[in-house]
Parts: sequence; C-alpha cells; structure tokens
Amino acid sequence: MSMAGATGPHMSKRDEDLSLCPIVHSTGLVGDRWSILIVRELLMGQGRFQDLQAQTGATSQLLSARLKRLELDGLVERHAYSQKPIRYEYQLSAKGFHLLPVILALRTWGERWVKPHGVPQAVRMFHAVCGSELDLDGNCQSCGLLAAWTEMTGKPSEAWLTERRALAVAFAENVKPLASRPKDPDQ
Ligand SMILES: [Zn+2]
Repeated sequence: MSMAGATGPHMSKRDEDLSLCPIVHSTGLVGDRWSILIVRELLMGQGRFQDLQAQTGATSQLLSARLKRLELDGLVERHAYSQKPIRYEYQLSAKGFHLLPVILALRTWGERWVKPHGVPQAVRMFHAVCGSELDLDGNCQSCGLLAAWTEMTGKPSEAWLTERRALAVAFAENVKPLASRPKDPDQ
C-alpha cells in the first residue's frame, strides 16, 4: 500500500495540532503515569507539594516540572497558602476535574485486568443518590442503573489508607535530614 504524503512513522507536532482525533490531543496532556497520579491525588484533595511527592513517589524536580506543565495546559491551578516562605497549594481546574471519569475507568480496568489476583480493592464507590455501594462497572443494585460519574462518591479502603500513611511517614523520615537545605520556591 502506498504511503504517499506520509513523512515518517511518527506524527510531527504540527500534525498532532491539526489532527481531528481527540485522543491525539488528550494524550498530549495526560499521557504519562505522573500526570495521571498527580490528578488522582488532587481529586483526593491532596494539594500540597510534599504530599503529592510522598503519594506519587515522584522526585521534586519531576513533580515540579509536571505541575508546571499541567498548569500551562490549564488542568491545574496554583494558590499561595503561605507568604513567608512562599508555599503553593494545587487544585484542579474544571478541565482537570473532568478527568474524573478517566481516572474511574483506569481504576476499573486496573482492578480487573492489571492488579495481582485476590488483592482487595483500593477504593469502594457509592451511589451518592441512594448511598448503595456500586459494583466495579458503576452499576447500582438498589436503583438498577448505571450511576453517572457525577453521582459517585469514593471511600478508600482501610488497607489503602494504611499504605498511604506508610508512604507519608517514609517520605517525612527521608526529608528530615535535608530540612536545612534551601527550599525550592515551588514546594
Ligand atoms: Zn443507587
């Protein structure tokens, strides 16, 4: 088959900008694990740099670069919560918050196809309308319907909360000896 007109196996940046395919555009913004994990944490209400670092496992340089990128792309907003020293808290914009169904789809797929067999679910999802627990696909047995993502609430399991607390403790213990070094203004 002739490939006349194609310049190579990869799209150039200009080709990407012109593509009608939304996946080309969206994966340009949240195409890697770090962006997705940052969005997950912001959805969980963790907006401070060190908490984001502790829970994602990203280095401070990597996290700082990803947050700047997410901010430039309009997914994340930054607010100063302390002036001396200057400290920022990060929040999702409406554009960022609307990744929630994407995160939920990754959760369902990960629980079903990727996690080792027999490991308990990290988060239980509930139908905000009636309070019943949803199955992994988001079906509500009480209402007999597929719940909309705007009507779901999540509750992390005790096991996952324990895992997260351990990450926070390990991070704090690692950071302590470095406490006297000059701070990155983003942190
Ligand atoms: Zn229901």
